[in-house]
Amino acid sequence: MPTAEPRGLRQAAIDWLQLRSDGGIEPLTREDILDFQFAGESVRLQAPMQGIWKPRGYAAALSFRTAYTKPGEPPPYEDKTGDDGLFRYKWRGTNPNHPENVGLREAMNLRLPLIWFLGVAMDPARYQVIAPVFIVAEEPEQQQFAFTAAEDSVAAFELEGSMHEEVTRRYLQRMAKVRVHQPAFRSMVLSAYENRCTICNLGHPGLLDAAHIVPDRDERGIAAVTNGLAMCKIHHAAFDRNFLGIRPDSVVQIRHDLLEEVDGPMLRHGLQDLHGRQLMKVPAHRRDRPNQELLETKYKEFQAATASG
Ligand SMILES: [Zn+2]
Repeated sequence: MPTAEPRGLRQAAIDWLQLRSDGGIEPLTREDILDFQFAGESVRLQAPMQGIWKPRGYAAALSFRTAYTKPGEPPPYEDKTGDDGLFRYKWRGTNPNHPENVGLREAMNLRLPLIWFLGVAMDPARYQVIAPVFIVAEEPEQQQFAFTAAEDSVAAFELEGSMHEEVTRRYLQRMAKVRVHQPAFRSMVLSAYENRCTICNLGHPGLLDAAHIVPDRDERGIAAVTNGLAMCKIHHAAFDRNFLGIRPDSVVQIRHDLLEEVDGPMLRHGLQDLHGRQLMKVPAHRRDRPNQELLETKYKEFQAATASG
């Protein structure tokens, strides 16, 4: 006998995932996600195989997931962010009445929050948890749903019409960037570098950032791993401010004037001693390694700083 969705389960699941993922920052494995319990019983939150998860008996879908795509490979579904700051999720198949499509449509009609599992790594598969998200429209011609990462249903559904369209668009774009693009970029970069600083090999994710080689101009897409470097906090700041540069042949350079300075252990070991050394950690896969042109662009900036510094 299928059972209806237990009262309070959806919110409990979202709260639990938020806690478990450190507010949506740390990606989770399938096993992590399987740990969820409600009223003393295990409850599956993610579809075992395909994208949309509507447990039997539930009126509305609970979650959906996007598979991880390797850099440079076309995604299996064309789930994209639009200029409107909304994401798109393709129907399951082409039949609008497939139970999974009906489940997403019901979540839209009932204005229920959903969980989006965004694949950010494989072997093992890891997912960024973005929850809540809200389905705000269906686009039958494109056989897809439009959804937002806005944090509450009021914002998701009421902004449109009540506010200037441009304001709405910018708000939704900002939410997309903060809640989806930034954490996904961080996870993908840290995963490629196996949670180590490329400069000094420090291996504590809590002290690591995903640094952009050049500023991320693309507001819409998830920034490419090839424009990222895993760096500890101090090296990230030093890299951004051109205290430290990376030669396109992967050799670390420290700004000239800093090499002359006499100071404590951070300057000595954390910066000066690294001058002329190769990057300590680079991704195992060539496809994840920094883009040469981007490194050259950034290195020119460093050279200009070191000449004037
Ligand atoms: Zn470091």
